[in-house]
Amino acid sequence: MNWYDANSRDLPWRSSADPYEIWLSEIILQQTRVEQGLPYFKKFMDNFPNVQALASASEEEVMKCWQGLGYYSRARNLHNTAKYVADVGNGTFPADYKGLLQLKGVGAYTAAAVASFAYGEPVPVVDGNVYRFVARFLGIDMPIGSPKAHGYFSEIAREWMPDSAAGPFNQAMMEFGALHCTPKKPNCLTCPFQVDCIAYRTNRISDFPVKASKTKVKEVFYHFIILDNNSRIAMTQRDDSGLWKKLWHFPLIEASSKLSPKEILEEVSEKFGTASEYLTLKGNWYTTHLLSHRKIQAYFWEINSSNAAKKNDTFGYSWEELEKLPLPQLMVKYLNHKKDVGK
Ligand code: SF4
Repeated sequence: MNWYDANSRDLPWRSSADPYEIWLSEIILQQTRVEQGLPYFKKFMDNFPNVQALASASEEEVMKCWQGLGYYSRARNLHNTAKYVADVGNGTFPADYKGLLQLKGVGAYTAAAVASFAYGEPVPVVDGNVYRFVARFLGIDMPIGSPKAHGYFSEIAREWMPDSAAGPFNQAMMEFGALHCTPKKPNCLTCPFQVDCIAYRTNRISDFPVKASKTKVKEVFYHFIILDNNSRIAMTQRDDSGLWKKLWHFPLIEASSKLSPKEILEEVSEKFGTASEYLTLKGNWYTTHLLSHRKIQAYFWEINSSNAAKKNDTFGYSWEELEKLPLPQLMVKYLNHKKDVGK
């Protein structure tokens, strides 16, 4: 905690005891670095300064604000939880760790963060930073991330935690892992724990923490069709399940490999019921995009269909309009590319 007083970053949610602000920051920072999450936190606080404001926003407004952070189920849970707290709790968050755990999208980590930072409840926060520091310091080779490991590391942190300073202790543990006992090149030479640190003393720093085996990444080939009918662009919305729930993108052909321009025009003709002589390929662009369990080989095919009869009402969007829809990050990547090319 002395180290924390001298070295911590000044982050806006740190000075707050408001459970809404703390909860919001923790949801945003899950699987997101602080530097990336900070502007999102500010944007959310500007747009939705309290839980009632977030609860009464539309889903599209929330998703738009979240756009670019990925893991969109977090945004939906965030919104649902805000509605729940506004309706059932009358705008007040549950008053302790157990109550907070009942909220959707709030796991042990977030509940502990809110309970200790906002209410001073002595429950340890165990995030990746805490796992790393504790595993190295004590030389623990139990694979992290399982419920068993969470319980084990929590017990250790609880033993170390002063009852009267749960919040500052948790903040200090997390910050020490984030800034000092870092994943690569930890600052062992200036570390206040160097003398007792098992990993340092046995020269096995890179052995800790031990990670459970990773999920396999699958390679997929996505062909996005940018069908332009007199500057009206076809768009489609995902349903409520699977990848990119409820987000919008260009119509998509999923294939097991790269397709040729001829194959693409045939597929589009079939998909939209438009004779292929009315379709003109104007250009294409390729990128790769990594998700947690998928490597997407993404092809964007720009096709003019000005002469095509409208088969359905998907040609609803101008470029300006479609940019305002909630979009997956891969779509934003394409739109940025388009702007760069148009410069
Ligand atoms: S000595 Fe190195 S590995 Fe051990 S706690 Fe300090 S920074 Fe981490």
